[in-house]
Amino acid sequence: MTERTIFHKIRDREIPADIVYEDEDVLIFQDIHPKAPTHLLLIAKKDADFVPSIADVTEETAHVPLLLIRKAQQFAREQGIDGYKLTFHVGRGGGQEVFYLHLHFMSQQQLAS
Ligand code: 5GP
Repeated sequence: MTERTIFHKIRDREIPADIVYEDEDVLIFQDIHPKAPTHLLLIAKKDADFVPSIADVTEETAHVPLLLIRKAQQFAREQGIDGYKLTFHVGRGGGQEVFYLHLHFMSQQQLAS
């Protein structure tokens, strides 16, 4: 069991976040310090404790980042966003601050209201 991060607390509704999409597998919320007109973070609700970072992904947990990528693709399509960047920061040297696997979704396009 890894240390609980701020994203565990957002997932468990212990601290607030501006959530833009949720289903049984994934939560998508606004980054608190956006670096693009649209800057979202995607996290998986299940199996997250096994994958604090992409560096920890194994055969058994490869479904977690794949799920995030597929949800990002689906969300973008639903929002009519056709240009975006997906980023995983890996390790402190790669700019990762929160060790709960998350996918950055950034776009110059705005979300549909
Ligand atoms: P990392 O650098 O770990 O890949 O990304 C962590 C991201 O989480 C950063 O872009 C940072 O702005 C965002 N962040 C940090 N704390 C919070 C928070 O409490 N709420 C939200 N919504 N985003 C946060």
